[in-house]
Amino acid sequence: MPSGEMKAVMKMKPGEGAELKMLPIPAPGAQEVLVKVHVTSICGSDLHVYKWNKWAEQNVHPPQIMGHELAGEVVECGPGIQHLQVGDFISAETHLHCGFCKQCRTGNSHICKQMKILGVHTNGAFAEYVVIPEKVAWKNHPSIPHEYASVQEPLGNAIDTVLNEDVAGKMVAIIGAGPVGILAAGVAKVSGATDIFITDINDYRLDIARQMGATKILNPQKQDVVREVLDATDGDGVDVVLEMSGNETALIQGCQMLTRGGRLSLLGVFDGNVNIDLNNLIIFKGIRVYGVTGREMFSTWYKAANFLRSKTLDLAPAITHKFKLEEFEKGFELMKTGMCGKIILTVT
Ligand SMILES: [Zn+2]
Ligand SMILES: [Zn+2]
Repeated sequence: MPSGEMKAVMKMKPGEGAELKMLPIPAPGAQEVLVKVHVTSICGSDLHVYKWNKWAEQNVHPPQIMGHELAGEVVECGPGIQHLQVGDFISAETHLHCGFCKQCRTGNSHICKQMKILGVHTNGAFAEYVVIPEKVAWKNHPSIPHEYASVQEPLGNAIDTVLNEDVAGKMVAIIGAGPVGILAAGVAKVSGATDIFITDINDYRLDIARQMGATKILNPQKQDVVREVLDATDGDGVDVVLEMSGNETALIQGCQMLTRGGRLSLLGVFDGNVNIDLNNLIIFKGIRVYGVTGREMFSTWYKAANFLRSKTLDLAPAITHKFKLEEFEKGFELMKTGMCGKIILTVT
């Protein structure tokens, strides 16, 4: 039963930045476990909290420990734990669902009405220890590297977006080569997509996406991306567009390169309202639109775990940097530049 103090990266107050603090090691309550964190990874939402954008202002109440992607070991079980034991190697689903609302009771816990998010509404994983509810713990296969186990959470976002419908034998365009877009290229590849286009203005990230499986990288600052995709598809456009940029212009380009009767899955979050020609880009083309939030629980975790355990999917190109937890500022500064894929923070 660990006691004493732990290092933690804490959002202390509104405004940019975070601080490394020494805090008491928390104790698990009923149906909770205490996890010793081995590695954690930085998510785009962590950067929002760090930089303190409008979304962070509305959702995060400092002082609070940041972070939600993790791999670690159960070191203490609170009362009532039934399925875990000390020593288990786990990661965590970060959507903390109520289990009781209409959505939870109809197989849609990922859109629970009472949803809380680890590290957003509760103390998070950028620390030596974190308490998580047993119901969101995910037991990892021992052969999965800690870094990959931590990245399973955003990999789940990518899996959910790519596999809203199957992609086998289909042409796919990914709009935006951020970390989740990069992971989506890998998921599309191993799921049988034949052609994987990806667009971004960041050549560094496009190159990572190519290593993950994208077959054609496109930079809208250098080329007419819609024309390129139409030319490569006999003028038909792609079967599937995965919007991961949250950029209005890029979304419109995505719609323009999507074939009639195609599928559009939306993961990127936009700064505000979006103005698009719904009549001509969606309705008259008979497009099926999916909104993606988090990951379907827990079907995406089974897929992620199988991709990793079987080594079907190699995450190595997507993980570009590793820092110690204490060096979190280096990680955030690097993320601001966009010259990175997933960044790992090693804790112990
Ligand atoms: Zn995340
Ligand atoms: Zn619920």
